[in-house]
Amino acid sequence: MNKYDAVVIGAGNGGLVAAIRLLQSGAKVLLVERHNLPGGFATSFRRGRFEFEASLHELNDFGKDGGDVRDLFDSLGVTNKIEWTSIPEAYHVICPNEKLDATMPFGIKAFIDKMEEYVPGSRKSMERFFALASEIREAQAYTNAQNGNVDSSYMVKHFGNYVRTGSYSVKEVLETLKMPKKAQDILSAYWCYLGAKLSDMSFTHYASMVIRYIDRGVMMPKGRSHEISLAMADRIYELGGEIWFNTGAKKILTGKEGAVCGVLLDDGRTIETKHVVADIEPTVVYGRMMDNVPEKIVKATNARKLAGRGFSIFLGLNKSPDELGIESHNYFLYDTSDSDKQYELMKGLDNAAQATVCLNRAYPDCSPKGTTIMYFTTLYMDDAWGKVKPEDYYKTKEDVARRLIERFEEYTGAHLMGNIEQISIATPMTYARYGGHPEGGIYGYESKYDDGLTARLLMMKDDKMTKGLRFCGGSAMRLSGYSSAYFSGDISGRQTAGDIKRGE
Ligand SMILES: Cc1cc2nc3c(=O)[nH]c(=O)nc-3n(C[C@H](O)[C@H](O)[C@H](O)COP(=O)(O)OP(=O)(O)OC[C@H]3O[C@@H](n4cnc5c(N)ncnc54)[C@H](O)[C@@H]3O)c2cc1C
Repeated sequence: MNKYDAVVIGAGNGGLVAAIRLLQSGAKVLLVERHNLPGGFATSFRRGRFEFEASLHELNDFGKDGGDVRDLFDSLGVTNKIEWTSIPEAYHVICPNEKLDATMPFGIKAFIDKMEEYVPGSRKSMERFFALASEIREAQAYTNAQNGNVDSSYMVKHFGNYVRTGSYSVKEVLETLKMPKKAQDILSAYWCYLGAKLSDMSFTHYASMVIRYIDRGVMMPKGRSHEISLAMADRIYELGGEIWFNTGAKKILTGKEGAVCGVLLDDGRTIETKHVVADIEPTVVYGRMMDNVPEKIVKATNARKLAGRGFSIFLGLNKSPDELGIESHNYFLYDTSDSDKQYELMKGLDNAAQATVCLNRAYPDCSPKGTTIMYFTTLYMDDAWGKVKPEDYYKTKEDVARRLIERFEEYTGAHLMGNIEQISIATPMTYARYGGHPEGGIYGYESKYDDGLTARLLMMKDDKMTKGLRFCGGSAMRLSGYSSAYFSGDISGRQTAGDIKRGE
């Protein structure tokens, strides 16, 4: 009875897509999820009269009339199961220490024009940036379609600039493009979404993310990200797949020559399968879920650096955004626009840098009339929370939350304190417990120079170190974020379907 062509472990964004792809290929698939809901981070929760989004600020590359994520959703058969709303502007970045306060629009032309208004003389370098980002996006589409088996001479011929910039950092390439400093600062506002400093962050990754945000605009499901997760679960059932909720996988079992032969569940049942797609960090899989892991794999896994640990505040406020003085949908607030310095500051608990969203500015009816919902997120670039003593935990949590809210009030002039009806706070401990992420990391492994997007895409074959086991999700080859996790599920699902067809 308990025999499947493939078992997907974890119903996060990556796992849901991998399961659909496998089912579309005709495979018999079981998806096991420890929680009683699908989605992982892609979910929502209620407090009083408010429904909070748990993570998504906006879904990039999903415009009204196109985008790679929209194409992916179309091919999965989920786009029309979801009610979408548009996001009004790209972002509002504020850094008072450097007199930086800029609100940037969607659309490449509008973005370049606006930048020229803020930074006269920036146009040429911005045009070159977007031309390069566009080539990177095309090169990635080619790499995806080839499942990582790329022809290097084809790459050099068709995507020469992609290959040329592949091993450089954001900082190096923006300098080479002779982009004025202030334009670099405004353009770099999204850096905290990837959580590596710009001197160490792969340019390819950053540029491909920026163009995916700016080019076609972005959208948000009205029912929060949970609506996407439910639509995907629904699609799995339509395709004849099974999802076992409240079911954790304890061990991935291996047999002859170390190949996968089954999955042991927390409740003691064993599932027979030759193929597993894990929506879990390799650190956890090789560290806790497999026996006799070869030293080479342990070393390769430990060589990676965990990305930022998350801290979020969710506020339900009893006044409208206008009454509170909130102008924009998506804010980035920094102490300094020098990401190297900001990264260092984000190692400590005093950190109040933040990406903060007011969903009402995109979707006014997301909360009862005359009220507002907001969510604030910051990252820790070190395990600062691991050093907090248990007896200090609650006070520390409240102190950090207060600092983030006060920072928002100070930088934007909004009035939040005194109008808070509901508050919920998530620390790295919450994320470690909720999703099983080491140290409460919310972005997988850091998008570094030597472990950035290009390296991971080109290393896809080498990264498959155990026969029958592939990874997807925020720690896999497309790195972290919603669209990346969906794409990794697409790649690993299709690759596993190929393995099954070839009888591997
Ligand atoms: C506060 C916050 C804000 C964010 N903002 C954005 C944003 O605006 N834009 C963006 O693109 N990204 C954002 N992200 C990142 C994004 O949410 C993640 O990159 C993405 O959701 C990761 O998907 P995943 O496939 O890795 O699954 P995860 O969400 O990590 O889910 C993994 C699932 O596996 C399950 N699981 C784990 N172990 C087992 C086991 N042993 N057995 C069974 N099930 C198991 C877990 O219960 C979970 O459901 C944010 C994240 C957070 C937390």
